Amino acid sequence: MNFKDLGLGPEVLKAIEERGYNTPTPIQAAAIPLILMTRDIIGLAQTGTGKTASFILPMIEILYGGRARSRMPRSLILEPTRELAAQVAENFDIYGKYHKLTKALLVGGASMGDQVKLLDRGVDVLIATPGRLLDLFERGSVLLNDIKILVIDEADRMLDMGFIPDIERIVSKVPPVRQTMLFSATMPPEIKKLGDRFLTNPKQVSVAPPATTAETVKQWLVWTRRPDKKKMLESILRKEDVKNAFIFCNRKKDVGELARWLQGRGYSAAPMHGDMPQSMRTQTLQSFREGKIVLMVCSDVAARGLDISGVSHVFNFDVPFNAEDYVHRIGRTGRAGLDGCSWTIAAEGDDEKSVVAIERLIKKSIPVESLGGSGGGEHSRNDRRDNRRDERRDEGRRPERSPDRRPERSPDRGDRPGGRPPRDRNDRPVRSDPPPRRDNREGPADDAFGTKFGDDLPDFLKRR
Ligand code: AMP
Repeated sequence: MNFKDLGLGPEVLKAIEERGYNTPTPIQAAAIPLILMTRDIIGLAQTGTGKTASFILPMIEILYGGRARSRMPRSLILEPTRELAAQVAENFDIYGKYHKLTKALLVGGASMGDQVKLLDRGVDVLIATPGRLLDLFERGSVLLNDIKILVIDEADRMLDMGFIPDIERIVSKVPPVRQTMLFSATMPPEIKKLGDRFLTNPKQVSVAPPATTAETVKQWLVWTRRPDKKKMLESILRKEDVKNAFIFCNRKKDVGELARWLQGRGYSAAPMHGDMPQSMRTQTLQSFREGKIVLMVCSDVAARGLDISGVSHVFNFDVPFNAEDYVHRIGRTGRAGLDGCSWTIAAEGDDEKSVVAIERLIKKSIPVESLGGSGGGEHSRNDRRDNRRDERRDEGRRPERSPDRRPERSPDRGDRPGGRPPRDRNDRPVRSDPPPRRDNREGPADDAFGTKFGDDLPDFLKRR
């Protein structure tokens, strides 16, 4: 299959060629011809599959030639996070470089005045997070009654972040006669319902089962006592050849705390979560891309879908609440066929069920590595496997998403005047019984890990 066979015009083909793409990815091969035929699409694909180009390339073709009126965008792409919206906008610039189409990026944390000026001039493609879009809609700065193409991207993430009511409101303002595309890595019943309501006779295209992990990522699991997780992380950092890494925490407050802890021990580390000012998020991301920051300690919201090539490692400092997040997290490495490595630090007595859920989802067990910390050793590993086997037998179903276990919610919605401030679900304890243990308590003596910490930090991990 060749890009020329998909029905794209010469300008788009030229832009793709200059970008260095030779062959369409499976989602592009399947979706582009259908979108060009103006079909509604449900795309079951995760980030990293080339799905952004799969909707942007045909959108450019369809929109080319029309003219946008002031404040009345002709198409709308909804993204759950600011970073993803910015990435899509960048993609639009790259693929649309030979077309005179206009775009606006409406995200929280950026100047509303500049966004309104762009809207006033008329835009062909509006790329937005739901909160800021509704804000500007309520102020009368944008009208949605000329939208002809609607893309709801990362729908399952929108669900996790509590954006579905906002999406429903937005869709109710968009004309019913339109082309709609819904992309999601997974298809929970809520998203299925959304698809049934918002799409007309959609064609479903799916690539690679949504819950598979790339073969190029070597996965490891270590068990430790909760108070020893930081020490465990450090012992892995010392043993591994880490070029750069995402370190995922489940809660925003832990992101900041762990980043400070690593900095205090001389590591080049920075936090990244949804409550940080947008300018700082952008700057941190840029420094990470440029290699000025080696370890990015982050939440799921901040890192979802980030496309940074050559990330050598992903660490799950916390086992993710939702098994699907595991797949997304480790998908930050091993991209574009490069090798990557992921390490998951599981807390004994707390994370057994979550690990079982992940292994059930990815349909394989994650090799357990013993690093000499608490709970290592062949015997205990075998015991644990037996326990997990028992748990698998006991639980005939996947754990349900519980509100307590939802990941961080983007602050975009909270920017809205008069809107309810977002509840910080993230900072709620995971379990109320027994009371949560704080993981900033110091663990046993460093010697338990056989290393004298702080003496021999490798150069590549040092703060720059
Ligand atoms: P996405 O799934 O949209 O986040 O894309 C993941 C990565 O794949 C991005 O870095 C794209 O630039 C890249 N990409 C998209 N389409 C192709 C293609 N046909 N060939 C090679 N790389 C691609």
